Amino acid sequence: MGDRSLRLSRRNLLIGGASAIAAGSTAAVVNAVAPFVLPETPRFDVNHSYWSLALPPPNPPPTHDLRADVIVIGGGFTGLSAAYYVRQALPKAEVVVLEAARCGNGASARNGAMLLTSTEDTYLEPDGDPLLRRRLYALTCDNIDRIRALSVATGVDCELDQRGAVQVAYDEADAQRMPATAARLRAAGLPIEPWTATEVARALGTHAYRAGLYDPNSGQVHPGKMVVLWKQAAERAGARIYEHAAVTAVQEGPRIRLALAGGTTASAPIVILATNAYSSKLGYLRSAVAPIVNHVAITRPLTAEELAAAGWIRRIPFNDSRTNVVYAGLTRDHRLHIGGGIEQYEFNDGLSRPDDHGRGVAFLRRELTRLYPAVAAVPFERTWYGFVDMSLDGSSSVGRTGHHGNLLYAIGFSGQGVNWTSVLGRVLGDVTAERDSQWAWLPYLARRLPYIPNEPFRWLGAEGGIRVISTRT
Ligand SMILES: Cc1cc2nc3c(=O)[nH]c(=O)nc-3n(C[C@H](O)[C@H](O)[C@H](O)COP(=O)(O)OP(=O)(O)OC[C@H]3O[C@@H](n4cnc5c(N)ncnc54)[C@H](O)[C@@H]3O)c2cc1C
Repeated sequence: MGDRSLRLSRRNLLIGGASAIAAGSTAAVVNAVAPFVLPETPRFDVNHSYWSLALPPPNPPPTHDLRADVIVIGGGFTGLSAAYYVRQALPKAEVVVLEAARCGNGASARNGAMLLTSTEDTYLEPDGDPLLRRRLYALTCDNIDRIRALSVATGVDCELDQRGAVQVAYDEADAQRMPATAARLRAAGLPIEPWTATEVARALGTHAYRAGLYDPNSGQVHPGKMVVLWKQAAERAGARIYEHAAVTAVQEGPRIRLALAGGTTASAPIVILATNAYSSKLGYLRSAVAPIVNHVAITRPLTAEELAAAGWIRRIPFNDSRTNVVYAGLTRDHRLHIGGGIEQYEFNDGLSRPDDHGRGVAFLRRELTRLYPAVAAVPFERTWYGFVDMSLDGSSSVGRTGHHGNLLYAIGFSGQGVNWTSVLGRVLGDVTAERDSQWAWLPYLARRLPYIPNEPFRWLGAEGGIRVISTRT
């Protein structure tokens, strides 16, 4: 929830310039042949995040060829929740999840832990349709209730704390826009509060910000434990989950055949791509999103004295209004985590460890010092990075693709998926059961995401955009 005019320009900047470059005729030829000249290779680097320490040992990979009614590729929030909801919609369906590494190896157990209401995109622009905005807000609030209920049902405590979240104003221009944004959102029926600098400082302890937009219904989770929650929910619902089961090729047909890294195969009449920033490696959704790297760091537990000195009394997580957003939170065991700031794109949708993770972490240390000087010397116990599936307008899409329309997908979470992924997981369950009609009102259903050109244009656009937005880091 926040001032979208600031954030959306970020997405447009990231890769937007590339579209213009790709428009020329020579460029168009280069654009068309690039995917064939520059094949992408799948890579699944190990998740070393603090959250990943909560992940259970992986299930074994398949030892024989699999046949199922529905196969989900990807064991993050999207894939696990989709498997759960497919079983809810079709209790007799054989549902299989294939995860390349461990469930939660991707963004789902690497993120900033903010459980946000709404979606950060064009449909929620302050001037958008108020009825739709209210409906989407209610949908995301309802999803948080569902996660809480599943937590009770499975007995997995994912440390869901719903104390709200604040978008804080980085500079005066952002601060001045916030009251009007809050007024428009409130007029549409959303309970967003405009906070002054004093109110922000009282709640967060930091005097670095000039204003804020407080959403009382957002919150935070332990992302690793939320992966455990969704994994248990899917398994209890009857889905079979295989890990270390990377899909290496997709052969389309009325029955889709998948080749797996271990030499086995799997087939089903419906396959769900829940592969987020990795999707292009299987040859899908390349023009919809680009993987953008983001860095995160976490301290050891703060002592009672350090907590008092930081003054983060209400423990509300926050993200700032910069285009290259910085976000922070406090865990239940009093660790301070901070992420964002420096963003990178690696040529040809690269997903390897970023060369300058050290630069990203150094930036986060400077930010921590600026925001909470009293705890500036507390060391980071862990640092990590993850890949965001950034779409050009920061908006997502859920629907069908493939020559036979039997490949389903949800993509474009653009750094806002901790809550929203399982909303779309639910939609995927209904689309699988051919109950699309009940989601006809949802603007993300079968939505065509703005086109992102191929290399070298996407790299040029991303580089240019990132250079421009990094002026505020
Ligand atoms: C650093 C960072 C901070 C973030 N902070 C926040 C935040 O605070 N709040 C928020 O709302 N959102 C945040 N996000 C975004 C959020 O984490 C994601 O939108 C969400 O986790 C995406 O879930 P997913 O299941 O779609 O993707 P992922 O969790 O990435 O899961 C995809 C899975 O598919 C698997 N896979 C891919 N290809 C194959 C294959 N060929 N075969 C088998 N398996 C495959 C991968 O191994 C992976 O486990 C952040 C993201 C990052 C990276």
